Amino acid sequence: MDSKSAEESQTNSSPPQTSTPSQFDLAGVLPEFVFIGGIQVPVKLARMAPGDFGEWRGYPSPSITVNGVLEAPAAFMTILHEALHGISEMYELGLTERDVRVLEIALSDLFRRTEGLRHFGEKI
Ligand SMILES: [Zn+2]
Repeated sequence: MDSKSAEESQTNSSPPQTSTPSQFDLAGVLPEFVFIGGIQVPVKLARMAPGDFGEWRGYPSPSITVNGVLEAPAAFMTILHEALHGISEMYELGLTERDVRVLEIALSDLFRRTEGLRHFGEKI
């Protein structure tokens, strides 16, 4: 549905690499799926156009695609970003691209930098 453009990469501290694909490295660390609204949504790696980070598709079945050339930090942010598009669509929130970007960064900070919260979530 919505893929990040080259313009968006200017706001991301981890731009995609276009020289050496790291698809196999990512394949070992990427989650196979994420849960959105109780639905198991597959996360796929694919070779995408340069400058594209990822894509959310709601139809015919929900999926998130991540550009296989991304480094792990950018892939993590991309999953959050595309999941937020999915959440917005499923719950009819009407989030703008700006809303999604702000939440992507805020949620990344919340989860990546707050180890105690991650551990708490894993225990319950
Ligand atoms: Zn977007």
